Amino acid sequence: MAGRVRAITLVGTPVLHQACRPVEEFDAALAELADDMFASMYAAKGVGLAGNQIGVDLRIFVYDCPDKEEVAHRGVVVNPVLELPPLDERHLDDSDEGCLSVPGPYAKLARPDRATVHGFDLKGDPVTVEGTGLLARCLQHETDHLEGKVYIDRLSTRSRKKVLKEYERLRAEAAEAAEAAEAAEAEASAAPDGQ
Ligand SMILES: [Zn+2]
Repeated sequence: MAGRVRAITLVGTPVLHQACRPVEEFDAALAELADDMFASMYAAKGVGLAGNQIGVDLRIFVYDCPDKEEVAHRGVVVNPVLELPPLDERHLDDSDEGCLSVPGPYAKLARPDRATVHGFDLKGDPVTVEGTGLLARCLQHETDHLEGKVYIDRLSTRSRKKVLKEYERLRAEAAEAAEAAEAAEAEASAAPDGQ
């Protein structure tokens, strides 16, 4: 039940940029995948995670996310179908959005402030999740992932460039720090140890 923490797939990896396959078998392997997804989401301190974010191109996402009233909702949705309010009843929320697959930056992105997802649980029974606030954003963000769409695809060119630049800067910084740590370690082990 604990689940294994798996590496999060980063933007640019093909599996993140193509539509995922529908789940057909509601078996033990699917339950195990969901456990791994929860473990990976919590390890990365996310509020939602889609299958392709750990490299599995199946239509499944997990979430543990507060709604507008700060009430936490946790669950898994298989083969989700998103339903948004009709256009004339739609209110947009332009809060910040980020993504575990584009770690670091955030950007404002207007999305409907309510969303519903219809799908199935791990046993194949129908489930419906209704969300407001951050949960509404999460439901849209995760179903987007399963269509091969990352939130930055919805940003203006300028905003997307800014996000990617910041992401690349942080990646380069992290790589540099790792290299420095490695060099320091190599130096330490090369030092004479009296043998
Ligand atoms: Zn994401």
